[in-house]
Amino acid sequence: VTAVEEALRGVGYTDVVGLDDFLTWSEWALARVGFRPSNCLPVVSVCRDELMAPVDEGVRRVWGQPFWAGALAGLPFLGRTGMRAALGHAPGEDGRHRFVLFCLPHIGIDADGTVGRVHRRGMHRASAACGALAAYLSDIAGGATVGGLDPDDIEQSLLQARLRTLVEEGVPSLVELTELTRQASVSDLRRFISLVGGDEPVDVACISGVVVHLPDGQDVVAHVDADVRIDAVVHVLPH
Ligand SMILES: [Zn+2]
Repeated sequence: VTAVEEALRGVGYTDVVGLDDFLTWSEWALARVGFRPSNCLPVVSVCRDELMAPVDEGVRRVWGQPFWAGALAGLPFLGRTGMRAALGHAPGEDGRHRFVLFCLPHIGIDADGTVGRVHRRGMHRASAACGALAAYLSDIAGGATVGGLDPDDIEQSLLQARLRTLVEEGVPSLVELTELTRQASVSDLRRFISLVGGDEPVDVACISGVVVHLPDGQDVVAHVDADVRIDAVVHVLPH
């Protein structure tokens, strides 16, 4: 058992799937409920980090050009206005609009099995992933109080305010915070859609999970969760 495998097990990522298999599965699972690349708009909420480029490119290859919703850590701060724009771009030939949401926060595990660290190309030392979540953790561990909107750090201010509503007490682990980020992204995107849906039917597929960056540029997805809501009926997608 390698240090990486041990680390994956230690944080409960026992259900990982490779990125390519994850993307292929998304297309297969959604085709069964009538979602095809030609009749959907993908909405992607992932972190700005260039480590997420393979995920960006993979979603684009399978689902077409996405609407980008993710700020630091992948939290979606596009709000009603952004979602209204996305809805205006969603195909609706048969009278139904369809979104495929991808909410995929990320975390690194380095070759020593250290969770939250990743070896980036051209860098001697491992660095943090997700860096924004690690920064938030070090702030609250240091006793920093969350203030207002810092005009020189708008996204991180919003991240702090959003996550503070979810961290009830103490300092969570990075893994726990990543899971809270996933839940927040899913719930915020759903809420924005409900606020702008209006009279037109909007069918929503929501695929979420945690992208884990392993050594040698290998990406896997843990804790995949997916469902489709069509006319308020929820269909859980098996995987
Ligand atoms: Zn990040």
